[in-house]
Amino acid sequence: MERTNTNRQRTLLRKGLKELSRHRPDLAIETLRLAVDAIPPACGEELSSALYWLSIALLRLDRRELAIKSLASAQKLRPRGHARSIYLRSINGYGMLRQPTPALDDFYAFTNIQMATYLLRKPRRRFDSFQERDIVLKLILDAWKTLASGGAFDGMECCEKLDYFRRVRPNFPSFGFDANQRGAKRLAFAFGQTSGDAATQRCACGSGLPAIQCCGRVKSLREL
Ligand SMILES: [Zn+2]
Repeated sequence: MERTNTNRQRTLLRKGLKELSRHRPDLAIETLRLAVDAIPPACGEELSSALYWLSIALLRLDRRELAIKSLASAQKLRPRGHARSIYLRSINGYGMLRQPTPALDDFYAFTNIQMATYLLRKPRRRFDSFQERDIVLKLILDAWKTLASGGAFDGMECCEKLDYFRRVRPNFPSFGFDANQRGAKRLAFAFGQTSGDAATQRCACGSGLPAIQCCGRVKSLREL
C-alpha cells in the first residue's frame, strides 16, 4: 500500500514537471496540487520540491500571491534549498510579495491587514456586494491617506509599522453581521502572534528566518 502511494506521488510530480516543461502551467498547477496533497508531511524533501515547482507554475501564470504562499511552505521544509533563496529575493520586510517601492510595500501591508480585519469577521470571509467592497475600500484608503500624510511611521522598522497599522481601526459598517468580536481569534491565527520584538526573532518553526518573514508574514487575502 505504502509503495503504491509513493509511486503515485512520484508519478504526479513527474507529470507536473512534464507539463511545466511543455509550457502548460495550468495543467502543471493541477497536477502539482494533487502531488502536494498526496505527499505526507513526513516526506519533507519531496513535499518541498513539489511546493517549489508549484510556485514556479503559479509564477508562470502571474499568480504571484499564491506562488509566494507555496514558496513560503517549500522553504520551511528545506531551509537550505533553492526555494529559500528565491523566496527571500521575492519578499519584502513584511514577508509579502515585494512591490516596486517601499512606499507601496507599506501601502499593501496596511490595506491587506485592514481588509483581513474586516473580512475575517464575516462568516464567508468575502464581500457580498460590490457596494460593500467599495465602501470598505474607501474607508481603508481614507485611513491610509490620513496615516501616510502625518508621517507618523517614517523611519520605523516593518515590525513596528505592523503594530502601528494594526492599531488603526476604520469605522467599518456592519452590513448586517456582527462586526464586533467575531473574528478576533481568526485574525490572530491568520497573522500569527508576531508583533514587536517577537516578529524580528527567529521563527518558532525552526526555519531560521525572522518570524515576520516566515510564519508571521502578512498573508495575502487569497490565503484567508
Ligand atoms: Zn516559521
